[in-house]
Amino acid sequence: MSIKVVGVTKLYDSQKALHNISFSIDKGSVVGFLGPNGAGKSTMMKILTGYIEPNEGAVCVNGIDVLENPIDAQRCIGYLPEHNPLYTEMYVKEYLQFQAAIYKVHKKAISEIIDRVGLTPESHKKIGQLSKGYMQRVGLATALLHNPEVLILDEPTTGLDPNQLIEIRALIKELGKDKTVLLSTHIMQEVEAVCDRVIIINKGKIVVDKLMNEIRSNHNQTIEVTFDYKIEEQFIKKLPNLESYKNNYDTTWFLTFATDKDMRADVFDFAQENGLKILGLNTHNQNLENLFRDYTN
Ligand code: ADP
Ligand code: MG
Repeated sequence: MSIKVVGVTKLYDSQKALHNISFSIDKGSVVGFLGPNGAGKSTMMKILTGYIEPNEGAVCVNGIDVLENPIDAQRCIGYLPEHNPLYTEMYVKEYLQFQAAIYKVHKKAISEIIDRVGLTPESHKKIGQLSKGYMQRVGLATALLHNPEVLILDEPTTGLDPNQLIEIRALIKELGKDKTVLLSTHIMQEVEAVCDRVIIINKGKIVVDKLMNEIRSNHNQTIEVTFDYKIEEQFIKKLPNLESYKNNYDTTWFLTFATDKDMRADVFDFAQENGLKILGLNTHNQNLENLFRDYTN
């Protein structure tokens, strides 16, 4: 297991930014950490990299307890922070040499990394002279210098133009071949392009954790149904083939069924058996976009 998070809760003063978060990531996976702004993505990543501590819970990276041994854990983590603090007055090579010294990495690693992240044509410039896409490559180069097994990338493509976006995505995909990657984003296409699993977080809670293959295979259907009265969860649970459910408003439910069968008739029968009337009924194909909308609205 490359990453293990157990029961993490984080408070900023009285605001709960993360509520009892748990997940594990296998070695070599590329996982998209998706959620709207303010969902808690950066907070989770700062905890994983040992920059801030949770109020409750435990985090392990490569079997190392991040809270007990942050320095050892950081040796196997490459971290691209959301607001990457780069020294704009420094030359690219000078900055990477400075970082290499911090990580005690041999200087010859620098030219390899510059080449790997595609910085070569701009490597003679000052960081402040680079476009956002190349600055992001400097951030990625820094994250890769000490050849970490785990990469934690906080919104690596935010602010890039469409060409840079494609290039950086391709680079992340390439890196994912031999590293474990946790990548935060609020762009669904990004997850579809590079990830093999998605974790969706909303208001500090995990609301979806699925393999992309599961989502793509699309044997699931979600029915959004509004009844005329409130109904208890214990009754909803009796519906056949029900995989998950969510009560959005008092009388509206998102019911996800793991079957190819059209479940609308069953929902209708269910309403009748329970003395309810259906005021609205919609089916959603379960692709990532719908999942995101259903679970973060
Ligand atoms: P995301 O990265 O998903 O946009 P964040 O983890 O940055 O979300 O933030 C989660 C919540 O915690 C937000 O409501 C944000 O305003 C709050 N928050 C983040 N950092 C701090 C901080 N240092 N002090 C107080 N509140 C914070
Ligand atoms: Mg963030």
